[in-house]
Amino acid sequence: MPSTEMKHAFVTGGGKGIGLAIAEALLKENYRVTIAGRNEDGLRTAARRLSESYPKRDGVESADGTGAAAIAYVVMDVANVDSVMRGIDQAVTRFGHIAILINNAGQASSAPFLKTDVQQWNDMLNVNLMGTVHCTRQVLPAMLAKGWGRIVNIASTAGRIGYPYVSAYCASKHAVVGLTRSLALEVADKGITVNAVCPGYTETDIVQDAVANIMIKTGRTEVQARAALAEGNPMRRLVQPEEVAHTVAWLCQTSASAMTGQAIAVAGGEVMQ
Ligand code: NAP
Repeated sequence: MPSTEMKHAFVTGGGKGIGLAIAEALLKENYRVTIAGRNEDGLRTAARRLSESYPKRDGVESADGTGAAAIAYVVMDVANVDSVMRGIDQAVTRFGHIAILINNAGQASSAPFLKTDVQQWNDMLNVNLMGTVHCTRQVLPAMLAKGWGRIVNIASTAGRIGYPYVSAYCASKHAVVGLTRSLALEVADKGITVNAVCPGYTETDIVQDAVANIMIKTGRTEVQARAALAEGNPMRRLVQPEEVAHTVAWLCQTSASAMTGQAIAVAGGEVMQ
């Protein structure tokens, strides 16, 4: 098993929101981190900020020996297999074997079931479910060869329970939880854990979009729309990205090796069963 300093963590959708908080949490724990997404400007800005905040420390430096911080980015669309293969190849060339995969990239759309068209269904399934599948298929063989790995899929409370007007999103996240449980059993005796983290409404652009949608469709003010989203959380507040990231970082630790096949809600008590 590699030491913490040598481990390479790959975070999809790491340029902003929950993924960026996860990248930061893993950098703090001395992993080499690659963030991936489609928006190169956003990724470059995020990587630059993180490299300034977490400059090279002993035992942690870029594989090219330049002394740069242990953060890099690759441009990649998780819904496109060829793009995923290219992005992961680039990341492995730069920072070595991927020991930790965080399947965080995701999109959300909302509409009543009868107004959810086939394109929306395809988008939700192609990004949220198949994006997770493509990335996992690409990194799992090397994890199996090394006999150690951590896969954390960012699902949602919508992967644990139903909500109205998000049937496609909810189905895609339930599928991610099913995939997590099944794969966890397949690799349970091979040194690899597979878990899902299921945030409730979390303070990111996805929630900002949901707030805007509620305001347009219901005429509520921004404060009222945000309160409506926080209403489902028994703590009456939105989850913070760092709270999700903390759970992910814990699951990646060697000491969490008995945790597998779980779908852990980070939602202020909204989901308990
Ligand atoms: P966000 O701020 O909108 O970030 C989404 C990330 O996913 C972005 O970095 C985006 O990067 C990436 N992404 C989207 N489509 C992609 C694609 N086809 N290929 C590669 N990257 C893609 O949203 P977030 O709230 O942080 O969401 C992160 C994850 O948490 C998602 O899986 C989401 O479903 C889940 N989640 C969020 C909440 C919430 O309330 N915020 C609650 C439960 C679960 P690019 O734009 O660069 O591609």
